[in-house]
Amino acid sequence: MEKVGITIIGAGVVGLAIVHELAKSGRKDILVVEKNTRYGLETSSRNSEVIHSGIYYPKDSLKAKLCVQGRIKLYELCEKHKIPFRKSGKLIVSLDETEFEYLHKLKENGQQNGVEGLEIMSKNMLNQLEPNVSGYGALFSPETGIIDSEKLMHYFYHTSKEAGAIIVFDSKVIDIDRINSGYAVTIEKDNYKFETEILINSAGLYADEIAGYAGLNIDKLGYRIKYCKGEYFKINRNINIEHLIYPVPEKVSLGTHLVIDLAGGKKLGPNSIYVDSISYDVDESHKTDFYEKAVRYIPDITLDDLSPDTSGIRAKLQDEKDDFRDFIIKDETENGLAGFINIIGIESPGLTASPAIAEYVSRMVRI
Ligand SMILES: Cc1cc2nc3c(=O)[nH]c(=O)nc-3n(C[C@H](O)[C@H](O)[C@H](O)COP(=O)(O)OP(=O)(O)OC[C@H]3O[C@@H](n4cnc5c(N)ncnc54)[C@H](O)[C@@H]3O)c2cc1C
Repeated sequence: MEKVGITIIGAGVVGLAIVHELAKSGRKDILVVEKNTRYGLETSSRNSEVIHSGIYYPKDSLKAKLCVQGRIKLYELCEKHKIPFRKSGKLIVSLDETEFEYLHKLKENGQQNGVEGLEIMSKNMLNQLEPNVSGYGALFSPETGIIDSEKLMHYFYHTSKEAGAIIVFDSKVIDIDRINSGYAVTIEKDNYKFETEILINSAGLYADEIAGYAGLNIDKLGYRIKYCKGEYFKINRNINIEHLIYPVPEKVSLGTHLVIDLAGGKKLGPNSIYVDSISYDVDESHKTDFYEKAVRYIPDITLDDLSPDTSGIRAKLQDEKDDFRDFIIKDETENGLAGFINIIGIESPGLTASPAIAEYVSRMVRI
């Protein structure tokens, strides 16, 4: 069997950030195996492309720490390597007094996480900043921005290859066996087997399945992923709004918000619907629901302005009844699998956190 030092399963933004981090530190023996024909064809290209500031997550959680660190790293990367981005700022808009009070708690939480510049805005201040947005008041986050995620992945992919990493496509992992020197990995095509000393599971929506191949009891360990779909509806008219506009967050998501892309296009989304299987169809019958949510804070919008756009699926560990589940980033030595690193449940803010996740994982690899 052929041998490699480090294998990463999955070339989404997280797998690519990890290979980039390891390759730039001088390791030459890194292989990425990706089942699709190209990098980034799944969740990493089906999201809001928002660089989150880190307001929402419980203090000291991986989500909080890696979001704040990842955001700072992303802005540095974007500046240095000309990856398109815009620090647009974001407004979380409250619709009544109760929600407005909640924004104060959110501000405090964000500050504890190290988020800079958060500011509570009165109705008047909100109207001055965004005349086409209505609300009772808002929380302004100046550090939130948007990024071209394709260009980010393109940068990670090409710099990793230039540094000597090998990234192969059409290579679906279908089995993993523990062997003396590490792991024997089986690829579906030709039942090809190779050996790797370290194995990093960054398989997004399938990361629980991969952990299962390695012999872990995913239900007992709490690793089972629940699919939570998020659909988007495009706004077909130019509404003059400069900032990302979010409602007060819901229990399982940040709420259906106004997303602005780098070309100025606007869409609403994502909603959140737990599903049993992966399909990216957008159900047109959800249009009224999107409209009714949006018109509360964008009064000019009409039903005719909306048309179905894309969708993405969140790799959630959190069930509808759970309050919060953190990212799992873990070396499985205590479960008898030394050198097997699981990265599971990387939902939002996974894009933002990706460079910080990469640094975190590369420290585990070097230990
Ligand atoms: C609707 C939505 C909106 C979001 N908005 C934001 C946002 O605005 N900001 C933000 O920071 N985050 C956001 N996120 C989260 C972010 O998109 C994800 O956290 C991130 O893309 C996860 O990247 P990944 O590399 O872990 O997963 P993926 O992009 O899914 O990559 C995993 C890769 O593994 C491969 N793979 C799987 N199984 C195998 C196998 N058996 N063999 C080989 N390869 C395999 C897949 O083909 C895939 O390419 C959003 C997510 C969703 C769903």
